[in-house]
Amino acid sequence: MSSSLAVNIRNLRLSPAEQPVLRTFQRRNMGDIPGIDNLSAQQRRAMDIVSRVLPFKTNQYICEELIDWDNIPDDPMFQLTFPQEGMLSPSDFAKIAKLVDDKAAQAEIDAAVRQIRLGLNPHPSGQVDLNVPQLDGEKMEGIQHKYKETILFFPSKGQTCHAYCTYCFRWPQFVRLDDLKFAAKEAAAMVDYLRAHTEVTDVIFTGGDPMVMRTDVLRRYVEPLLAPEFEGLNIRIGTKSVAYWPHRFVNDKEADDTLKLFDEIVSAGRHLAIMAHYSHPCELETVIAEEAVRNILSTGAVIRCQAPIIRNVNDSSKVWADLIRAQVSLGCVPYYMFVERNTGPKRYFELPLSRALEIYSGAFRQVSGLGRTMRGPVMAATPGKVLVESALELAGEKVFALRVLQGRNPAWGNRLFFAAYDETATWFDDLRPAKIDPSGGGNGGGGNWFFD
Ligand SMILES: *Cc1c(COP(=O)(O)O)cnc(C)c1O
Ligand code: SF4
Repeated sequence: MSSSLAVNIRNLRLSPAEQPVLRTFQRRNMGDIPGIDNLSAQQRRAMDIVSRVLPFKTNQYICEELIDWDNIPDDPMFQLTFPQEGMLSPSDFAKIAKLVDDKAAQAEIDAAVRQIRLGLNPHPSGQVDLNVPQLDGEKMEGIQHKYKETILFFPSKGQTCHAYCTYCFRWPQFVRLDDLKFAAKEAAAMVDYLRAHTEVTDVIFTGGDPMVMRTDVLRRYVEPLLAPEFEGLNIRIGTKSVAYWPHRFVNDKEADDTLKLFDEIVSAGRHLAIMAHYSHPCELETVIAEEAVRNILSTGAVIRCQAPIIRNVNDSSKVWADLIRAQVSLGCVPYYMFVERNTGPKRYFELPLSRALEIYSGAFRQVSGLGRTMRGPVMAATPGKVLVESALELAGEKVFALRVLQGRNPAWGNRLFFAAYDETATWFDDLRPAKIDPSGGGNGGGGNWFFD
């Protein structure tokens, strides 16, 4: 691949001393954040309190190139990565604030934090424990096999990220384990699982963010999948690094090896899809972000873009239309607009499904067919991945038309069904079957879903 060779040569011209190094900022070094002086003492205090409960991590690239400090607190990247007072309920906020003001013992603060977190995240182990498959009676930790063709693989029990999204519910997984031996062992288990499950066509590396791993660690996981026995397997990597640390694909110390690994995956005949998490068009507007996209595409990998719709970050049709247009013009493929799970600081971020649908439709109308490959709004709900297709009136009843994109049961795939329209519902569990929905056995609504 000549274009990627050119990339590699340019990278090599940067001496190790010149290569950019990720600098992260958390609560303990908040004072060093570039731009922090733009915040009032009250905003800083709020950040200090909230970040005891919600994970907080940002980095120099986000602060220096993505956040517009003249637009605080409304700036979308500030909202995406910096804790805000409104993310906790007033009573939770007051509780922690009082403990801090009273100089309470750390153990007492920790206990209060734990309790608030439990309330925010009723499934503290996240999705990982659901659908943990078994092989020869042994639990396959780190693998989730919910849909027939696809497994999710969480290397090393989840990874950290280059920065944290404030709405994210995956904080129990944020531990970093860059362990080569462990990686090899986990990879061997995955290979065994794939041999026993030939119906699987796609392996999705997820986390956390798999692209925080050094390339030699990532290689341990990926290389076994390039063996001839796995011909036809699609390899996907879910990552936010393209937005939070694009240097990984341009000029940091891992960039060269990363692009080489991608080259090798493609050369081995595998479809490599980088499932890129872009929340806002500004993440695609910097020179380094564009270069990252070009370098990844030059390896022969495909970039498919997905993100949740989040209030205060990307809750407008214009933002999504701009985002989709930026993706398409760089050669990326728009893929999913997600509705965020019903956990975390949801009061702050949540958006009615009706509104998400309006925003999606508004963006859809503004982009060409190349951008209409984005499907949404999509929920990872009980029956599977469910698309909110439309809101309409049928036989005098206002309904949501919903469609199963991926069913827990493969037979449900592409099934259309109907929920009673509910203007304020924010998640699938808030919905009830519509009267006209045949799934209630024609009993006129309020009954069971087809999957109950
Ligand atoms: C979204 C998702 C997938 C991938 O689904 P695609 O529609 O193939 O992108 C796989 N497993 C789980 C659990 C998912 O939520
Ligand atoms: S990058 Fe992904 S896993 Fe990490 S905090 Fe954001 S949403 Fe969560």
